[in-house]
Amino acid sequence: MTDTSHETKLTLLYIFIAFAFSIVMRLIWVYHFYGYAPFHFNGQFMINTNDGYFWAEGARDLLSGTATNPDAKEYFDKFHQLHDLSPVSTAASQLTAFFAKILPFSFESVIFYLPVFLSSLVVIPIILIARALKNIEMGLIAALLASIAWSYYNRTMAGYYDTDMLNIVLPMFLLWSIIWAMRTNHNIYLIITAVDILIYRWWYPQSYSLELSFFGLILAYALLFDRKNLFNYKLLAIMMLAMMNGNELMRLAIVVVVYFFLRDKKYDKYVFYLLGAAVVAYLVSGGLSPVWSQLKGYVFRKSVSASDKGLGLHFFTVMQTVREAGHIPFETFANRISGNTVTFIISLLGYMYLLYKHRIMLFSLPLVGLGFLAYVGGLRFTIYAVPILAFGIAFLITQISAKMPTQKLKVLSMLALTLIILYPNYKHIEAYKVPTVFNADEVKVLTALGKKANREDYVISWWDYGYPIRYYTDVKTLADGGKHSGSVNFPVSFMLTHTQEEAAKMARLDVEYTEKTYDFRDKDKKEIEDKNLTIFSNIEQMTKDYGYNDTNLFLKSLHSDIKLPKKTRDIYFYLPFRMINIYPTVTLFSNLNLMNGDKDKQPFFFVSRNFKDTGTKIQLAQNIFLDKRTSMLHIGKRAMPIRRFVVTKYDKNMVLHKNVQLINFSSDINVIYMSDYKTFLIVDEKTYNSLYIQLMVLENYNKKLFEPVILTAQAKVYKLKI
Ligand code: MN
Repeated sequence: MTDTSHETKLTLLYIFIAFAFSIVMRLIWVYHFYGYAPFHFNGQFMINTNDGYFWAEGARDLLSGTATNPDAKEYFDKFHQLHDLSPVSTAASQLTAFFAKILPFSFESVIFYLPVFLSSLVVIPIILIARALKNIEMGLIAALLASIAWSYYNRTMAGYYDTDMLNIVLPMFLLWSIIWAMRTNHNIYLIITAVDILIYRWWYPQSYSLELSFFGLILAYALLFDRKNLFNYKLLAIMMLAMMNGNELMRLAIVVVVYFFLRDKKYDKYVFYLLGAAVVAYLVSGGLSPVWSQLKGYVFRKSVSASDKGLGLHFFTVMQTVREAGHIPFETFANRISGNTVTFIISLLGYMYLLYKHRIMLFSLPLVGLGFLAYVGGLRFTIYAVPILAFGIAFLITQISAKMPTQKLKVLSMLALTLIILYPNYKHIEAYKVPTVFNADEVKVLTALGKKANREDYVISWWDYGYPIRYYTDVKTLADGGKHSGSVNFPVSFMLTHTQEEAAKMARLDVEYTEKTYDFRDKDKKEIEDKNLTIFSNIEQMTKDYGYNDTNLFLKSLHSDIKLPKKTRDIYFYLPFRMINIYPTVTLFSNLNLMNGDKDKQPFFFVSRNFKDTGTKIQLAQNIFLDKRTSMLHIGKRAMPIRRFVVTKYDKNMVLHKNVQLINFSSDINVIYMSDYKTFLIVDEKTYNSLYIQLMVLENYNKKLFEPVILTAQAKVYKLKI
């Protein structure tokens, strides 16, 4: 047996071991919740990431479009509606549809298990890179660690169906092909690198920055250390062509043609012309424009927010509610990359030692750099550093074990040290019991609604629920995980937190304006561009159309008998019980003066699930008591009367009954006891009269405006009658 064939066998064995290990670790969650009904739908686990429902919607539409008819194009509109925001042209949806089509498993199974298998592929480039350094044991150890390290696990676990499942795999393959290209100068790596880039860009369009960093490093290396080697310039040229903007198939064709040109020695004298042409083609195609627009965003950040045309409305932004991205504690940062602070520090030292011993690993710097961006840019970046720092500690482990006197001790020390670094990550996985996005009862409501609602109808709910609603119900939504700017959220927030009358009118207005704006954008595309027309937010357009130039006056007019736009479709409200937890956040988006940005007084809203009945008093929180005899609410040292005391209760047939006691009309505070939910609500009068409380908590719907469609304890659906 030759040396290389032995090495190849060992490589395959190690890949198999690491791949199987990565999968088994991801089945721990599955094992833990095995048979737990609330997490299941259609006999399979539901996914646990909100964004996954976006890709799932696209894949579902692609499948339904092709499965029933061979000529998909002609019948396409039957399965996916104009402006329903279904992402049928994204790579994640297309790849999912492909797997769902060829595999003998249910669609729900495919989306649940896809991250398990795809993310585990990361072990392959890790082990192949180690092979290039003639140290495949290092590859095995790094692969075992990287595949299950804290943040990589969190973002690729079973059910975490999102682009993350390939977002590290693809750049790691790119790093592998660059390392092998630079090490061997074999022509085959020219085409492999180019195709890597094409696939990576197809999968994740934001990949341009990482590609550009690799390009820059290779260029620097070529100019500084290896100026005479023509292969470097061939690699740069083909990379640049793969990195152009534009159609994937066209770029693939160009890359293949250029590859055959580059591998032929007789054309070597033209390589520099080709590189020059590639750079020009890259720039002309707009390769740098995403980088440029991002820079502009940073430099001119202030002037962007101020709108120069129109009323200059001030909206609340989602960023203000998302916890501050910057300044994560060092321990969190280290844990997420290596599973443990000590492992992280040793990994970092090991990585520096590895760079010193194997200069070629310098090409991994862009990944580490991106990972360390997490310190300023948010936790989600840490996964980029995971596999590279895993190389660091794995290298040290192989170096230490190499010093052992006997073969047996070598293997044992390697095994022991590997188990030690894996252990904290295993403990994390064992404890990380994230729930599915929705529970089975909520999904039942949505699928039942899907049978009643038309695909052109709108279902209104808070943006957090947008993607799952569209996936399970196949309707349109106003807001979702990708469409939730302050101006989009304003009307939805307004509806949920204002009276039924205001909500009903705003619902009809916002839905019809949303559709009208889509139509306007499509039909008058050229005119909009030529005349540089501004498309105003719905609320601003409504204000103008109703003859106001103060949005507050327009909003006040909703109390009067205004003429609503023509009804083109039905509108439903989806009101889940779980929204009670985020009600205060929902209010933020509409509880402000759009004209000047001033925030209004925060509504009083308090939820207590952890209360104690002490006989004469009910303790709702540390220092909030409700005196049962006097019906007074004691908050700290203050005592205040309450306006109403309401108790809701379901009977055997799940019909809601409520007992409303009017206590003191001068008070603004209401106490609601939702007995079946074991939940106390303390809300001010405005909140009490809001659509959400009236329809979800009390089922006090105005029969002229709303009609109940589905009423369950977990979620309620009403149809708008106007
Ligand atoms: Mn649709």
